[in-house]
Amino acid sequence: MISRIKLSLLKGFLRRPVYLVLGVTSRCNSRCKHCFFHKQLNSTVRELSFDEIEGLSRQLGALLEIDLSGGEPFMRDDLADIYKVFVKNNKVETFAIPTNGILTDQVYAQTLKILQYGGAKHVTVSLSLDGPRDIHDETRGVKCYDQVFRTYEALAPLKNKYKRFSLRAGTTITDMNYRSIPALHDELARSMPGLDFHDFEIVRGDIPDRRFALPPLDALKQLRPVIFGIWDQYNDHPGGVQSKVASRARQTLFNGYIRILETQKQLWPCLAGRVHCVVDYKGDVFCCELLPKIGNIREDKFADVWRSARACRTRAAIRAKDCFCTNSCFHTISLLFDQAYWARFLL
Ligand code: SF4
Ligand code: SF4
Repeated sequence: MISRIKLSLLKGFLRRPVYLVLGVTSRCNSRCKHCFFHKQLNSTVRELSFDEIEGLSRQLGALLEIDLSGGEPFMRDDLADIYKVFVKNNKVETFAIPTNGILTDQVYAQTLKILQYGGAKHVTVSLSLDGPRDIHDETRGVKCYDQVFRTYEALAPLKNKYKRFSLRAGTTITDMNYRSIPALHDELARSMPGLDFHDFEIVRGDIPDRRFALPPLDALKQLRPVIFGIWDQYNDHPGGVQSKVASRARQTLFNGYIRILETQKQLWPCLAGRVHCVVDYKGDVFCCELLPKIGNIREDKFADVWRSARACRTRAAIRAKDCFCTNSCFHTISLLFDQAYWARFLL
């Protein structure tokens, strides 16, 4: 993975992004109280059509990864067709879809179609779970805890047939749930034994209910051994060099997020707007979801947006470290390029 990204850089690939977050819809059947997208949920603005998404795909080069976002991505019944387009035009390597897991039949049918089509080396579906039943349902604003487990039951058998399919759980850490993470983990160990990983994201952005805001930093610090212990239990190759590196990098990232929150500063250079790009459900383009848009693919060609004065100004502000956040998707790749980190790691 690292070598592919560096190769891309060397080839000057980054005249276009190699990591795309694509918002395929604003529709959602949850009402999450920690949702930074809440003001745009179920918007009346027309979402990108399949043809518009295909047009975007034709304008992009090879992509290492696409993460779908929403809304709830599986509310689109052409998700597998969207996947095929990016496999065909962009040779995408990793395709990741988070889901609230409510639409079991739809999630299963679209995932099966995606896996049957082939293409990407890794296809990940991540089931959002924000705590034991009461806390999860309270967080999500709808009673859906049991349904997520039904979706797991439907998806898990696909792992036997499709080795490139990874099934994960994803938890957003909030002030409401940080105490119950060990209980959630126990439940997942019992009821979702086929999970490949359990990931954690610290709540971020503008959220609708302050009870679900950031926990105290001391609480996050105390949570570290719990989370690191959970991650170690999903270690495929305990003791192997690769898993040791991955485990240490994950821990560095999490420790880094706490440091970022403490100092309110970027800790390593963020590559949003160079490696990463976000296109939302209505075609607005961003360097990252938390910064103002740099253009719209309904109004201009992608390359013109990406090279625009607004894009350059935003990149300059990111380089100057005018912003900070704990977005794990973006920081994971940014850390890969932080030579200071690797020097410390290797010495
Ligand atoms: S499922 Fe996702 S998009 Fe929908 S309300 Fe929850 S966090 Fe927001
Ligand atoms: S540090 Fe965070 S807010 Fe700033 S550009 Fe990177 S991802 Fe966006």
